[in-house]
Amino acid sequence: GSARDLVEKLCAPVPDFPLPGIIFRDLTPVFADAAAFRTVIDALIEPFQGTFDVVAGIEARGFLLAAAVGYAAGTGVVTVRKAGKLPRAVHSEAYDLEYGQATLEIHRDAVTPGTRVLLLDDVLATGGTLAAAARLFERGDAEVVGCGVVLELEALAGRGLLPGRRVHALSTL
Ligand code: IMP
Repeated sequence: GSARDLVEKLCAPVPDFPLPGIIFRDLTPVFADAAAFRTVIDALIEPFQGTFDVVAGIEARGFLLAAAVGYAAGTGVVTVRKAGKLPRAVHSEAYDLEYGQATLEIHRDAVTPGTRVLLLDDVLATGGTLAAAARLFERGDAEVVGCGVVLELEALAGRGLLPGRRVHALSTL
Protein backbone atom coordinates (compact mmCIF):
# COMPACT_ATOMS: atom_id res chain seq x y z
CA GLY A 1 0.00 0.00 0.00
CA SER A 2 0.93 3.68 -0.14
CA ALA A 3 2.59 5.39 2.80
CA ARG A 4 -0.68 7.22 3.44
CA ASP A 5 -2.71 3.97 3.56
CA LEU A 6 -0.19 2.24 5.81
CA VAL A 7 -0.03 5.16 8.25
CA GLU A 8 -3.83 5.36 8.34
CA LYS A 9 -4.05 1.64 9.06
CA LEU A 10 -1.28 1.39 11.66
CA CYS A 11 -1.30 4.75 13.51
CA ALA A 12 -2.93 4.26 16.90
CA PRO A 13 -5.06 7.09 18.40
CA VAL A 14 -4.59 7.36 22.17
CA PRO A 15 -7.28 9.44 23.90
CA ASP A 16 -6.32 11.66 26.85
CA PHE A 17 -2.53 11.36 26.39
CA PRO A 18 -0.47 13.13 27.63
CA LEU A 19 -3.31 15.32 28.96
CA PRO A 20 -7.10 15.00 29.18
CA GLY A 21 -8.76 16.03 25.92
CA ILE A 22 -5.73 15.41 23.70
CA ILE A 23 -5.74 12.53 21.23
CA PHE A 24 -2.11 11.40 20.86
CA ARG A 25 -1.26 9.78 17.52
CA ASP A 26 1.13 6.91 18.20
CA LEU A 27 3.23 6.05 15.15
CA THR A 28 5.36 3.36 16.82
CA PRO A 29 3.30 0.59 15.11
CA VAL A 30 4.24 2.13 11.74
CA PHE A 31 7.94 1.92 12.61
CA ALA A 32 7.51 -1.64 13.90
CA ASP A 33 6.00 -2.93 10.63
CA ALA A 34 8.69 -3.91 8.10
CA ALA A 35 6.77 -2.95 4.95
CA ALA A 36 5.37 0.25 6.44
CA PHE A 37 8.75 1.40 7.75
CA ARG A 38 10.46 0.89 4.39
CA THR A 39 7.58 2.57 2.52
CA VAL A 40 7.66 5.56 4.89
CA ILE A 41 11.42 6.00 4.61
CA ASP A 42 11.35 5.83 0.80
CA ALA A 43 8.42 8.29 0.68
CA LEU A 44 10.23 10.77 2.96
CA ILE A 45 13.24 10.76 0.65
CA GLU A 46 11.40 10.90 -2.69
CA PRO A 47 10.42 14.61 -2.90
CA PHE A 48 13.84 15.72 -1.64
CA GLN A 49 16.04 13.19 -3.48
CA GLY A 50 19.37 14.78 -4.41
CA THR A 51 18.60 18.11 -2.70
CA PHE A 52 20.17 17.55 0.73
CA ASP A 53 23.67 16.91 2.07
CA VAL A 54 22.64 15.90 5.56
CA VAL A 55 19.44 14.74 7.25
CA ALA A 56 18.52 15.98 10.71
CA GLY A 57 16.21 14.11 13.08
CA ILE A 58 14.48 15.64 16.07
CA GLU A 59 14.70 13.80 19.39
CA ALA A 60 13.52 11.15 19.76
CA ARG A 61 11.29 9.60 17.09
CA GLY A 62 12.85 11.79 14.41
CA PHE A 63 16.14 9.95 15.06
CA LEU A 64 14.63 6.70 13.76
CA LEU A 65 13.54 8.38 10.54
CA ALA A 66 16.75 10.35 10.01
CA ALA A 67 19.00 7.34 10.57
CA ALA A 68 17.19 5.25 7.97
CA VAL A 69 16.91 8.14 5.49
CA GLY A 70 20.60 8.96 5.83
CA TYR A 71 21.53 5.35 5.23
CA ALA A 72 19.25 4.98 2.22
CA ALA A 73 20.11 8.34 0.67
CA GLY A 74 23.83 8.11 1.42
CA THR A 75 24.04 11.21 3.61
CA GLY A 76 25.18 11.89 7.14
CA VAL A 77 22.80 12.29 10.05
CA VAL A 78 22.60 15.13 12.58
CA THR A 79 20.77 14.90 15.89
CA VAL A 80 18.61 17.80 17.09
CA ARG A 81 18.52 17.28 20.83
CA LYS A 82 16.71 18.49 23.89
CA ALA A 83 18.67 20.93 26.04
CA GLY A 84 21.70 19.70 27.93
CA LYS A 85 22.39 16.46 26.07
CA LEU A 86 25.10 17.51 23.63
CA PRO A 87 28.64 17.63 25.09
CA ARG A 88 30.29 20.37 22.99
CA ALA A 89 29.48 23.93 21.91
CA VAL A 90 25.86 24.25 20.76
CA HIS A 91 23.34 26.52 19.12
CA SER A 92 20.18 26.70 21.29
CA GLU A 93 16.65 27.73 20.38
CA ALA A 94 13.81 28.06 22.86
CA TYR A 95 10.25 27.70 21.63
CA ASP A 96 6.74 27.68 23.03
CA LEU A 97 4.82 24.53 23.80
CA GLU A 98 1.10 24.46 24.49
CA TYR A 99 2.05 24.78 28.17
CA GLY A 100 5.48 26.23 28.85
CA GLN A 101 8.70 26.26 26.85
CA ALA A 102 11.26 23.84 25.49
CA THR A 103 14.77 24.18 24.06
CA LEU A 104 16.42 22.34 21.18
CA GLU A 105 20.14 22.22 20.44
CA ILE A 106 22.61 21.18 17.75
CA HIS A 107 26.37 21.08 17.88
CA ARG A 108 27.75 24.26 16.35
CA ASP A 109 30.06 22.24 14.09
CA ALA A 110 27.33 19.82 12.98
CA VAL A 111 26.93 21.80 9.77
CA THR A 112 29.15 24.15 7.80
CA PRO A 113 27.82 27.24 5.95
CA GLY A 114 25.86 26.21 2.87
CA THR A 115 25.16 22.66 4.02
CA ARG A 116 21.74 21.61 2.67
CA VAL A 117 19.67 20.09 5.49
CA LEU A 118 16.51 17.98 5.37
CA LEU A 119 14.64 18.11 8.70
CA LEU A 120 12.57 15.12 9.80
CA ASP A 121 10.11 14.42 12.60
CA ASP A 122 7.26 11.99 13.10
CA VAL A 123 4.40 14.45 13.67
CA LEU A 124 3.79 18.10 12.72
CA ALA A 125 1.41 19.56 15.30
CA THR A 126 1.67 23.31 16.13
CA GLY A 127 4.91 23.61 14.15
CA GLY A 128 6.97 25.04 17.00
CA THR A 129 9.41 22.13 17.07
CA LEU A 130 10.29 22.15 13.37
CA ALA A 131 10.42 25.96 13.29
CA ALA A 132 12.92 26.00 16.16
CA ALA A 133 14.98 23.24 14.53
CA ALA A 134 15.11 25.16 11.26
CA ARG A 135 16.28 28.30 13.07
CA LEU A 136 19.09 26.31 14.70
CA PHE A 137 20.55 25.30 11.35
CA GLU A 138 20.12 28.76 9.89
CA ARG A 139 22.07 30.16 12.84
CA GLY A 140 24.93 28.06 11.45
CA ASP A 141 24.30 29.46 7.93
CA ALA A 142 23.11 26.07 6.70
CA GLU A 143 20.24 25.91 4.21
CA VAL A 144 17.08 24.09 5.29
CA VAL A 145 15.78 22.59 2.04
CA GLY A 146 12.63 21.23 3.61
CA CYS A 147 10.81 19.39 6.36
CA GLY A 148 9.39 15.88 6.13
CA VAL A 149 6.88 14.39 8.55
CA VAL A 150 4.96 11.14 8.63
CA LEU A 151 1.77 12.77 9.92
CA GLU A 152 0.48 16.35 9.90
CA LEU A 153 -2.30 17.32 12.31
CA GLU A 154 -3.95 19.92 10.11
CA ALA A 155 -6.25 21.40 12.75
CA LEU A 156 -3.18 22.71 14.61
CA ALA A 157 -2.08 24.72 11.54
CA GLY A 158 1.63 24.01 12.04
CA ARG A 159 2.51 25.29 8.57
CA GLY A 160 1.70 28.76 9.90
CA LEU A 161 4.98 28.68 11.83
CA LEU A 162 6.88 27.43 8.76
CA PRO A 163 6.20 30.16 6.19
CA GLY A 164 8.05 29.78 2.92
CA ARG A 165 9.37 26.37 3.88
CA ARG A 166 8.84 23.21 1.86
CA VAL A 167 6.90 20.86 4.13
CA HIS A 168 6.06 17.36 2.94
CA ALA A 169 3.63 15.27 4.99
CA LEU A 170 3.03 11.63 4.09
CA SER A 171 -0.44 11.72 5.68
CA THR A 172 -2.79 14.19 7.35
CA LEU A 173 -5.46 14.09 10.02
P1 IMP B 1 4.68 20.77 17.57
O1 IMP B 1 5.94 21.46 17.98
O2 IMP B 1 3.46 21.25 18.25
O3 IMP B 1 4.52 20.75 16.06
O4 IMP B 1 4.78 19.27 18.06
C1 IMP B 1 5.53 18.37 17.36
C2 IMP B 1 6.40 17.56 18.29
O5 IMP B 1 5.63 16.98 19.32
C3 IMP B 1 7.05 16.44 17.52
O6 IMP B 1 8.36 16.24 17.99
C4 IMP B 1 6.16 15.25 17.81
O7 IMP B 1 6.94 14.09 17.99
C5 IMP B 1 5.44 15.61 19.09
N1 IMP B 1 3.98 15.39 18.99
C6 IMP B 1 2.99 16.29 19.09
N2 IMP B 1 1.80 15.71 18.96
C7 IMP B 1 2.03 14.40 18.76
C8 IMP B 1 1.18 13.25 18.54
O8 IMP B 1 -0.07 13.29 18.50
N3 IMP B 1 1.81 12.07 18.34
C9 IMP B 1 3.16 11.95 18.37
N4 IMP B 1 3.98 12.99 18.57
C10 IMP B 1 3.42 14.19 18.77
